[in-house]
Amino acid sequence: MVARSRVQAHLNDHVVRLMQCRRCPRMQSTPVSGGAIVSDVMLIGQAPGPREPVLQKPFAHTAGRTLFQWFEKFCGLAESTVRSTGTDRVPAPDEIRNCSSWMNDEIKILRPRLIIPVGRLAIAQFIECTKLEKVIGCKFCVHRAGHTFDLIPLPHPSGASPWPKISPGKQLTERAMRQVACHPAIAALTGFERSLSRAKSKKTRRN
Ligand code: SF4
Repeated sequence: MVARSRVQAHLNDHVVRLMQCRRCPRMQSTPVSGGAIVSDVMLIGQAPGPREPVLQKPFAHTAGRTLFQWFEKFCGLAESTVRSTGTDRVPAPDEIRNCSSWMNDEIKILRPRLIIPVGRLAIAQFIECTKLEKVIGCKFCVHRAGHTFDLIPLPHPSGASPWPKISPGKQLTERAMRQVACHPAIAALTGFERSLSRAKSKKTRRN
């Protein structure tokens, strides 16, 4: 419990400093954060679209809707639970370089069991990604920022890319989501969501 509160304090401080970051002069918006959420799972996206800074949350629009539908279908997880995993962003090449220390710091603080990079740019921060076909549907063991974790890449769910909707991308995306659903860090989230809904239904019965 004490260890968790120390992690939470470090993460709070990290997010406060991240929100003040203005290292990239061409970055149009201020950083977007889903909050300082301690989790065993990190979901890593790409540069935020135009809606995210306004709504002040990552994966806020259509691509996010598709992503959360995948999690609901394969893992039985509600959007609110998926949002309780950490999120980050991976913008243009020089910005990726500028931003990598933030991501490394977040990995050092959270020491996640599972990282899910979403889209080619995010995947390429961890492993070689010449073709999505070579990495989607596979699980990797990756070492970064002094920590070793599992990596399960997902394609970008943006409506602009047909890759996850047509063969072989559709089957590979389904395989990747089954691997995500089976991962112990996700199983822990599913268990948490079940106990939450049991507690809610008990409360409703009492009222
Ligand atoms: S992209 Fe990263 S490094 Fe650049 S300003 Fe935003 S938070 Fe800072």
